[in-house]
Amino acid sequence: MPPVPDGAPPDATERAAIAAALTRGAQRGRLLEILLEVRDAKGGVGISPAGLAAVAEHLRLFPSEAYEVATAFPAVNYAAATPYATEGCGDLVCGLLQGAPGAGVCRNRCDGARPAPVARTFADYRAAGGYGQLRRVMADPGAAARMLAQLSAHQAVGRAGVGFPVGEKWRQVMAAGGTPVVIVNGDEGDLAIFKDRFILETDPHGVLEAALVAARVTGADLVFLYVRDDYAPIHAIVRRALEEVAAAGLAEGIGLELRRSGGAFICGEETALIASLEGRAARPTERPPFPTTRGYLGRPTLLHNVETFYRLTAAWGGTPGSPASVLLDPQVRLFSVSGRVCAPGPKPVRGLSRLADLVEIAGGMQNGHALGGLVIGGSSGTLVGAADCRRPLADLLAEGLRLGTGGAIVFGADDEPRAIAARMAAYLARESCGQCGPCRIGTAHAARILAAPGPLDLPLLDDLATVMGEGSLCALGRNAGRFLGRLSLPGRGASA
Ligand code: SF4
Repeated sequence: MPPVPDGAPPDATERAAIAAALTRGAQRGRLLEILLEVRDAKGGVGISPAGLAAVAEHLRLFPSEAYEVATAFPAVNYAAATPYATEGCGDLVCGLLQGAPGAGVCRNRCDGARPAPVARTFADYRAAGGYGQLRRVMADPGAAARMLAQLSAHQAVGRAGVGFPVGEKWRQVMAAGGTPVVIVNGDEGDLAIFKDRFILETDPHGVLEAALVAARVTGADLVFLYVRDDYAPIHAIVRRALEEVAAAGLAEGIGLELRRSGGAFICGEETALIASLEGRAARPTERPPFPTTRGYLGRPTLLHNVETFYRLTAAWGGTPGSPASVLLDPQVRLFSVSGRVCAPGPKPVRGLSRLADLVEIAGGMQNGHALGGLVIGGSSGTLVGAADCRRPLADLLAEGLRLGTGGAIVFGADDEPRAIAARMAAYLARESCGQCGPCRIGTAHAARILAAPGPLDLPLLDDLATVMGEGSLCALGRNAGRFLGRLSLPGRGASA
């Protein structure tokens, strides 16, 4: 257990780092950001127990409250002696690629080595018509109502997996009373998913304009851009975009803040995300109330992920000219392809007919490997065997396959599906926030069962699937149950 905060004074270097972080904002809601800023100032080494006690005192928190937050987020690297390094993806992609070129890279590099991102500039975005819709909404009081009608006509839906109608969500926020808050969720913490990063690093102003339009239409006075801590190059891109927009007077009356998440999968769950923005540990809460009526600090909160915001720009014609602009076509789906392929990365695809085609789109299989199958849909997704990958995708969807947020991890014929399932279960066990027993115990137990040699204890796996599916508070636990329930492995009557 990490040491508790103590009363000894922090050393001079840490004192200076704490003072600088507090100068940038000394509200409880910034607690996670303060701890990350101190970590950065110390070269990646996390705040010490003495430093945490000093921060707690300054923010008028009990030391136990600060301790709970500091230990809930891996990225804080609390009381560690060595710099923070992003953990691998539960060994899934990294484990598959062991020994291959680029092996051992952390989870935010599973799309391979890439050149530094080049974002479309503010000037280029505006030259292509960017911020025109925001100006119309700002200038015309009737534009907000028309915007809502446009969203409905465009059938805009959320892109986080559920597909909830965007216009309906905006209406709920507006009907809730009080001044709303807008949050752009760029946490994207699931295994080998990097679509939001692709959008932010190529066309950040498209996301920002959509968020500002949402703020104007709903009457929000605050917009958060919540981005993964280990997306460091994107932080610089987003910061610059925020400064440009503010300098151009496009955000008058609206606070804009970039916040980083804390290196845990659960940070992307909307209620956990909101908790982290309030200076609390990222733990999901029961719904209702939904964030649309009672979210950040009790205010109505409109939260969409990056892709959802970006695609909204299509409702007013969008701004062609960026690699991400291909997403203005609603028929285009963005897949994050990784694993044993020659050219992993974000792949926009229109009209995918077979999952196996994703392998070709991603440059084919790496040398010496034949296709074994794909993990579709992230850490609690589905293992689809090679034969099914070659069947029409429409048939698989009709049979219940879900594409989720478009993750596609390719494995080879020599890779053991059970070992892959064990890695997925281990990842879920590591990322469970632990507050509900079925999830905390069930994910760990499933990981042990799958990793153990010998025949699978199928009745026990089925029991775990049922209990986790029915007794978990958030999607991580519920989807872990679904993942186990539909696992097709030798011994279950089907082979991946
Ligand atoms: Fe936490 Fe798992 Fe419960 Fe979700 S289901 S709240 S991750 S313990």
